[in-house]
Amino acid sequence: MLGNFSYCNPTKLHFGPEALDALAGELAHYGKRVQLIYGGGSIKKNGIYDQVVSILKAAGKEIFEDPGVMPNPTTEKLYEGCKIARENNVDLLLAVGGGSCCDYAKGVSVSAWCDEDPWEKYYVRMEEPANRLIPVGCVLTMVGTGSEMNGGSVITNHATKQKIGHVFGEEVFPKFSILNPKYTYTLPKYQMVAGIYDIMNHITEQYFSGEDDCTSDYLMEGLMRSLLHSSRIAVKDPENYEARSNLMWIATWALNTLVAQGKDTDWMVHMIGQSVGAYTDATHGMTLSAVSLPYYRYVMPYGLHQFKKFAVNVWGVRPEGKTDEAIAQEGLAAMEDWMKEMGLVLHLAELGVTEDMLDGIAKGSFIMEGGYKVLTHQEIVDILRQSL
Ligand code: NAP
Ligand code: FE
Repeated sequence: MLGNFSYCNPTKLHFGPEALDALAGELAHYGKRVQLIYGGGSIKKNGIYDQVVSILKAAGKEIFEDPGVMPNPTTEKLYEGCKIARENNVDLLLAVGGGSCCDYAKGVSVSAWCDEDPWEKYYVRMEEPANRLIPVGCVLTMVGTGSEMNGGSVITNHATKQKIGHVFGEEVFPKFSILNPKYTYTLPKYQMVAGIYDIMNHITEQYFSGEDDCTSDYLMEGLMRSLLHSSRIAVKDPENYEARSNLMWIATWALNTLVAQGKDTDWMVHMIGQSVGAYTDATHGMTLSAVSLPYYRYVMPYGLHQFKKFAVNVWGVRPEGKTDEAIAQEGLAAMEDWMKEMGLVLHLAELGVTEDMLDGIAKGSFIMEGGYKVLTHQEIVDILRQSL
């Protein structure tokens, strides 16, 4: 229900093949000292690193390199990034990469000047930052998380087997993000489709909540239809600019807080998927795809009206002469067919999950309210077992 709310998204976006041209203008707003955050080297292979560095140099910036952000960034890496930021008193954190680099930059932003253990303060106790923050900018190279225009920051602690996301407020959102769809052409197919499923699941986690007629649902149905259309083109023709640009734009709008307005939101697939990630370090989108169908089939009877709407409005299921349940089942079957077409992982065993891990994964899954059914520990174990 659209009750009282205030809405602001402070991230400025620069989109398109020439989007990087806007970087120099953005850099002018910040001091000289820039921490350049990137991952395992893809930006060096595809030339994005050289382009960014030459713009930084032309702008007279001093660069403090912070490479090696791994997929699913860890607490150890976070502490390392904080040290670089603090020792060099950096003025801007520039993340060049996917959601992992962008999430990590936000983690460093809130943690560098925090005088407690940031893992405990922000990711375990979920407190809000009261210390000095370092501004974040992003040059996005992978599509899926929406991190380029939100406050989310997911960090993994391998010692405690926890993968936890804090959704920070707007002061932590990237100040600007540069989105060039062509940068995503070099993504391996596995990463591209994992990102596509991350987008789908961000939408379904918000869609499957509430009983009322809400404009956000209509927005989400449009985003999902566009996602299905463009994903089918992009898997066959990865350099199709039209499809890749649509995917990039859908990802941003799927999780930049707009479509959450008026929705309770669910997020249980992410909670379970993140716990799977803590045990396996598997690719985020694949942890979601592996648990989604058993989860949605289980909660479907509790939110039948919405699953029916999903089937008809997103998947084009013809409702005539069918029960609501049959319509809803047909919608999920159509989603399963699309997931197979994409080449998504549908079984946790493929990600290295074994039976003996299920209890621990379920314990590590935060139980969220907001969806159609608040799960018990045993129900999560059962869903995980069906996902194996
Ligand atoms: P990612 O972990 O940032 O990147 C995945 C892989 O893709 C890396 O190996 C990376 O290599 C490679 N890559 C990225 N761009 C590339 C390119 N253009 N060409 C070739 N390879 C490229 O993936 P992600 O899915 O964007 O981020 C996942 C993280 O975000 C997870 O920790 C997840 O939990 C979190 N997440 C956050 C939110 C949020 O709201 N903030 C939402 C969902 C998930 P390099 O390391 O070499 O760059
Ligand atoms: Fe996600």
